[in-house]
Amino acid sequence: MAKTPHIAIFPSPGMGHLIPMAEFAKRLVKHHHISATIIIPTTGPPPKAQTSVLESLPENIHHIFLPPVTTVADLPAGSRPEVKIFFIIQASLSSIRDALTSLKSKTHLVALVFDMFSHDSFEIAQELNLFKFLFFPMNAMALSFSFILPNLDKEIVCEFKDLPHPIKVPGSVSFHGRDLMAPVQIRTDEAYKGYLQLSKRLTSLDGILVNSFQELEAETFQVLTAGVTGQSQTPIYPIGPLIRSDPSNGSDRHESLKWLDHQPTKSVVLVSFGSGGTLSLDQIHELATGLETSGQRFLWIVRSPNEKASNASFFTASSRTDSLGFLPQGFLARTKNQGLVVTSWAPQIEILSHGATGGFLTHCGWNSVLESVVHGVPMIAWPLYAEQHMNAKVMTESLSLALRAETDEHGIVRKEVIEKVVKDLMEGDEGKRVSNRLNELKVAAMKALSDGGSSMESLSKFAVRLISK
Ligand code: UDP
Repeated sequence: MAKTPHIAIFPSPGMGHLIPMAEFAKRLVKHHHISATIIIPTTGPPPKAQTSVLESLPENIHHIFLPPVTTVADLPAGSRPEVKIFFIIQASLSSIRDALTSLKSKTHLVALVFDMFSHDSFEIAQELNLFKFLFFPMNAMALSFSFILPNLDKEIVCEFKDLPHPIKVPGSVSFHGRDLMAPVQIRTDEAYKGYLQLSKRLTSLDGILVNSFQELEAETFQVLTAGVTGQSQTPIYPIGPLIRSDPSNGSDRHESLKWLDHQPTKSVVLVSFGSGGTLSLDQIHELATGLETSGQRFLWIVRSPNEKASNASFFTASSRTDSLGFLPQGFLARTKNQGLVVTSWAPQIEILSHGATGGFLTHCGWNSVLESVVHGVPMIAWPLYAEQHMNAKVMTESLSLALRAETDEHGIVRKEVIEKVVKDLMEGDEGKRVSNRLNELKVAAMKALSDGGSSMESLSKFAVRLISK
């Protein structure tokens, strides 16, 4: 009998990378005769959020923790998340080689799947004669941009943010340089060099798995598969939307869900900025006032003010009980019948799937967007960091998934803007239009992942490649 093909999956640090890659592994081993090992870089004892994902996996998906990279503490205080991720991956390369060599001696190891920060394991996969696949946790638009980055790098001499004209992404919209994804913002930075290296590698890969689906980004996928972006023959596999399928196995139902049980159908706007998004104190006050005067019900997952757009919880997804003293005076008392404020963390997928949730003010992290699409919840786009400004643009200008919360010249979304956009989403014609589109996409997403659906077919084509090795 033929040996079961085994794949190694190497996500970079951050729950936003681990969760969709674990879901990919689950679908692969469930529908095909393949087993997998997830190899996790660490900086210390694994956080609970991480172990709970790993422990819930089926038995033919194993996991290995690499030795901790303690030297990450030596990076300058306030280093950006992508700089830290890049550092951790570099420092983990020799241990990933050891892990892969050992796996190869024990299993029929055929492939390594890395993501856009862990791709420096490419050469190790090559040495070990493994297939090299990229798991792209962003969307087709961001992939299309990545394919043109090597040419932009040659043609443009200044920082992208200083470009006088926008950049057209093939099969998608145009972006101002300042809105491009964070890793390409400072060209002398290690994160830029790492991302450029990835972009140059795209054409040498055995394939790219994209966490999106044909029906959501039809035009962009068409351009990508036609090779218009110059990716020659690199096969592209749209396999999404992959979102966490067993959101929580905790015994106690979260207070936010109990509160939602008492709210009317589709009446509540969820306000959440992902696993690490933070706002300044001024911005928190504008948001609080805008929510209050909108008169709409809200469920706000709030974090302490921070002048930076993201904080360390990005890495740990840890939940802290922050005091709410930073909210405007009297806000909680005045809105006690209108909204609920929860500190740090709440079960987002369960909130989005609750019948009382009718809108989502989101930081546009791609996992959050997909979770909203799967549950048919229309959005307000309020991007903060990473590639979220690009996502927000494509969500509002091309995919009709969201209304936009516009900033003023100081980068603040003012209370009047918040009041209006929340009302428009929940009660206005624009909100209705976006809501209808989300209802259609919810059905399309379900179909894509069902037997014979587009993403299911892509996954089968990928599995056939593994079995052929
Ligand atoms: N999330 C959650 N509860 C929270 C905040 C975030 O469950 O209070 C989950 C959310 O459902 C999503 C992930 O954390 O799966 C955030 O990923 P995303 O790509 O949206 O943003 P990132 O945190 O990577 O910026």
